[in-house]
Amino acid sequence: MTDLHSVSIKDLSLNFGSISVLRDLNIEVADGEFLVLLGPSGCGKSTLLNCIAGLLEISDGQIFIKGKNVTWEEPKDRGIGMVFQSYALYPQMTVERNLSFGLRVAGLPKPEIQKRIAAAADILQIGPLLQRKPAELSGGQRQRVAIGRALVRDVDVFLFDEPLSNLDAKLRSELRVEIKRLHHKLANTMIYVTHDQIEALTLADRIAVMKGGLIQQLDDPLTIYNKPRNLFVASFIGSPA
Ligand code: ADP
Ligand code: MG
Repeated sequence: MTDLHSVSIKDLSLNFGSISVLRDLNIEVADGEFLVLLGPSGCGKSTLLNCIAGLLEISDGQIFIKGKNVTWEEPKDRGIGMVFQSYALYPQMTVERNLSFGLRVAGLPKPEIQKRIAAAADILQIGPLLQRKPAELSGGQRQRVAIGRALVRDVDVFLFDEPLSNLDAKLRSELRVEIKRLHHKLANTMIYVTHDQIEALTLADRIAVMKGGLIQQLDDPLTIYNKPRNLFVASFIGSPA
């Protein structure tokens, strides 16, 4: 069964010392699905994403990506690309160098690197920015480059941690449309963390509403909105019943 799912999270728990942050989570993300993890600050969204990325060691359970048990794999071997809230671009490098850096480290041939950068630049409309430095870019442009860095790695699964939180409302809605377009075009699996209900409702195939390290409801946006399972989900996202 596991092979059918792009990301499988089985009985995952994570404790920081004696504090239980994630409690016995089970999630199956289908191939090509856009799953949003939605919940208030501190509910464990970033922690869960970091577990999937391999940046945190889990206390219990297993994680499968494309059917392969990656629970003990290094982040770089998991076939994932991550985009954070802060852009984390190298300030001294041009956009092009920022995009190619990881590929050069991995030893990819130059023509292949150029091909991937050209494709990413085209999709994200950052071609004219390739020779600029991050300081010469707007916030929206920087976040496009950050997405581009995950894109050129040709990964199976994209993980986004509140990538639009630092942007103003107008840019947020523009980039929301772009991320949606990107997903349609690439048709790969995306797991997207946000505390923003609008973002969740517009982007998601399914939404996992989280509170206190537990999933309160995992459903498609319409069901979550119209049939919230409990008071918490209703007050956080659902229509007033
Ligand atoms: P979210 O991303 O939903 O805002 P987080 O995943 O960042 O929430 O945090 C979930 C909980 O875990 C919070 O209560 C936070 O204080 C706690 N936490 C996060 N990182 C650590 C850490 N390194 N050590 C101890 N507690 C942590
Ligand atoms: Mg967070």
